[in-house]
Amino acid sequence: MKKVFYDSWLAKAILFPSYSTITLFAWVFTKWSKTEARQSTINHECVHARQWIELTVASGLLLWAGELIFGYSAWWLALSAVIFYLWYVLEWCIRLISNICKRDAYHMVSFEREARLAERDNNYLENSHYFAWLKFYKK
Ligand SMILES: [Zn+2]
Repeated sequence: MKKVFYDSWLAKAILFPSYSTITLFAWVFTKWSKTEARQSTINHECVHARQWIELTVASGLLLWAGELIFGYSAWWLALSAVIFYLWYVLEWCIRLISNICKRDAYHMVSFEREARLAERDNNYLENSHYFAWLKFYKK
């Protein structure tokens, strides 16, 4: 399945001029053509796509189990598609509010730390573990 959309009309329509690439759900949209795209940016965004998939599947299974056990509406399953974004924003807010981090909150978000780790490693997704972003909560 296609994961990266080069020369994307969507990226061109929604991104500010200084931004080139965005990950929405499991797909990466970039203004760049395939030849002009920076591999480090594509690696970074593809990690976010996998993080989204990991959290969507995990939360979907939990919500589905909860639906079977507690009998609440199946509409709650739709929440799994946005869990990554909710988690991301919640973590960013906590890091922004707390004085624990000395660097800026954006760079301290665990999802960003894993994505930066992958920027220079073209085989990162093949060689890393699922939910690898969790290890950044220990540090
Ligand atoms: Zn990022």
